Amino acid sequence: MTSTVVPSSQFATPSRPIPVVEAPEVPLVTGGSVRYANFDHAASTPCLRAAADAVAELLPRYASVHRGAGYLSAECTRAYESARRTIARFVNARPDDAIVFTRNTTDSLNLLARALPEDATVIAFDSEHHANLLPWKRLIRLPAPDSASTAVRSVDDALKVVANDGPVLVAVTGASNVTGELFPIAEITVLAHRYGARVALDAAQLVPHRTVDVTALGVDYIAFSGHKLYAPFGTGVLIGRSDWLDAAPPYLAGGGASAHVGDATNDVRWQTGAARHEGGSPNVVGAVALAAVCETLEQADRAALTAWEETLRTRLADGLAAVAGVRQLHVFGADSPRVGTVAFTVDGYPADLVAAVLSAEHGIGVRDGLFCAHPLTRRLLTEAGVAPTHSVGAGCGTDGRPQRVATAVRASIGLGTDIDDVDRLIAAVERLATEGP
Ligand code: PLP
Repeated sequence: MTSTVVPSSQFATPSRPIPVVEAPEVPLVTGGSVRYANFDHAASTPCLRAAADAVAELLPRYASVHRGAGYLSAECTRAYESARRTIARFVNARPDDAIVFTRNTTDSLNLLARALPEDATVIAFDSEHHANLLPWKRLIRLPAPDSASTAVRSVDDALKVVANDGPVLVAVTGASNVTGELFPIAEITVLAHRYGARVALDAAQLVPHRTVDVTALGVDYIAFSGHKLYAPFGTGVLIGRSDWLDAAPPYLAGGGASAHVGDATNDVRWQTGAARHEGGSPNVVGAVALAAVCETLEQADRAALTAWEETLRTRLADGLAAVAGVRQLHVFGADSPRVGTVAFTVDGYPADLVAAVLSAEHGIGVRDGLFCAHPLTRRLLTEAGVAPTHSVGAGCGTDGRPQRVATAVRASIGLGTDIDDVDRLIAAVERLATEGP
């Protein structure tokens, strides 16, 4: 343990922690086992106890949705639609917003991309997760900003050029999935609206850590994933203005999306609202689990949770900073506000080796690679002077062929993290940096 770190006994844990499903013991390569320390919340979070309970309650009452005439079908339909309302309330959606269930954030943003008017231009930073870069057709890519004010200025400059050329959407993340840094969403939204443009908020990394109020922020669309918000895999949402969504071809054409199908090939009338884009049988279990998480978080003291997460993050960042050879990555700078994510490298050790050692020898789960944000992570690694290493096929960072690329390790904190986990991670990195694997 580094001497600069305050003993964990001096920290009070939050008075009402929210229980997640208990992490299991995992085997160590050195023999024995240890409680899994999950530092990969930015990828997927463990399930909240409340979500697991909601699933267990629903499964015996499982029946068709929106279709069946039976009692359980009606109950299941009610549960699904009630989940939709709960999630809308959780982000304080406007009354006329569409609340569309999807599979995940990637799905939500692809849906939105397909629903944009033909002549729409999208503005996005290079720092976006690929899910918020690759779906857009007419895309203006802005360089990753080096400060919040640069971000606003560069959106302003781009809007000046394209604002009169048809509809414009600014697609921006709430928090970087690489460094956790918060982007100036409120300022960008005010600015975009001044030009008549719309804003899509990729909230995949934001909603798990901060209260998001769509109405107050004014963003036109918000997308996030259940599996990053303590619910199981398979459910996401797209929430936002219904006009473009109602005018677009259905995202999933089929039963449920159609209001009338005649005998002639083209004689189809599509639904409006969420149903238009939710063709096929929906993921009721996922929706109900996500709603249970939203209800639990609504009742929690989120300011206290944020403060506690910041305590853990600061302890982790400071502890790693005290280890010789560790470099941390930042978009805006070390002091910029962020959620509980820390990206770092260890001099002399490829990121995939660091991650493998943390897992095999210490039972600590992190992620390594370029984090599906290749342009940003490459730039940050270059700026940090990190040497390319033999990191083959690390995460989605390489194409699988042997090549020398620099990659990073990402440790991300969530509701399941406690202070001992943080100390375990710092001690493990320190041991690797000083003694080798
Ligand atoms: N946007 C951000 C900021 C993310 O961090 C991620 C996932 O890491 C995504 C989008 C994509 O989320 P999903 O894999 O759930 O579609």
